[in-house]
Amino acid sequence: MLDAASYVWRVLNELVADAARITVLTGAGISTDSGIPDYRGPNGLWTRNPEAARMSTLADYVADPEVRRRAWQSRTTHPAWTAQPNDGHRALVALERSGRLIALLTQNVDELHQRAGSDPGIVVELHGTIWTAECLDCHARTPMADELARVSDDLPDPPCRACGGILKSATISFGQQLDPLVVERAVKAATQCDVFLAIGSSLTVQPAAGLCHVAVDAGAALVVVNAEATPYDGLAALVIRAPISETLAALTGTLGGVR
Ligand code: ZN
Repeated sequence: MLDAASYVWRVLNELVADAARITVLTGAGISTDSGIPDYRGPNGLWTRNPEAARMSTLADYVADPEVRRRAWQSRTTHPAWTAQPNDGHRALVALERSGRLIALLTQNVDELHQRAGSDPGIVVELHGTIWTAECLDCHARTPMADELARVSDDLPDPPCRACGGILKSATISFGQQLDPLVVERAVKAATQCDVFLAIGSSLTVQPAAGLCHVAVDAGAALVVVNAEATPYDGLAALVIRAPISETLAALTGTLGGVR
């Protein structure tokens, strides 16, 4: 007799094996095994320190030099600079190589999918990247490492070298619009898939979370893999609460079987 976990793997395997076109959405949960804390989980950055959310709120960032100073300090020690991809990221590279992954949408800004070997052409960074700095005024973009190298006690909040404006990581803060072209690509990928896999996202941030609805409305089966319940669990064909690395390892086993 199958136990509950085996049943879940079997359903997941059947869904994935039958799908010609798969779209994946990843959130912070896939990178926690790489040492990058999530935001809203039990040990999340904002759960432990609600004040930290101000650094990711555009109005506070623009209005308050102290918020920017703390944001630059936080960036200099960000775990993304030394993090390595984990088995979860690598499993999605295997899924891509099976030829059925049409897009890898991510809410993460750590570039670990690309570093794991995912084709940058299929990765859609909904919330931008921390590896690039962008001027809020002239929109000049520069490598984050170059700007971090300028940060010092005398220059705690380095201005844009082109126009003197405020620099920020090229990530989407609260109160900041997503790039419309990025949203368009994501909606298209959600509309065109047979299976939409949402992995490690609390599915509480729009418009990313709403992509689940877009996919289901277009006829896709939604699979939610997350440690905690999400607002979209009721829409899902399958909800998996097992650890992400374990779930994606099961998926990789399936892919090995179909190739
Ligand atoms: Zn500028």
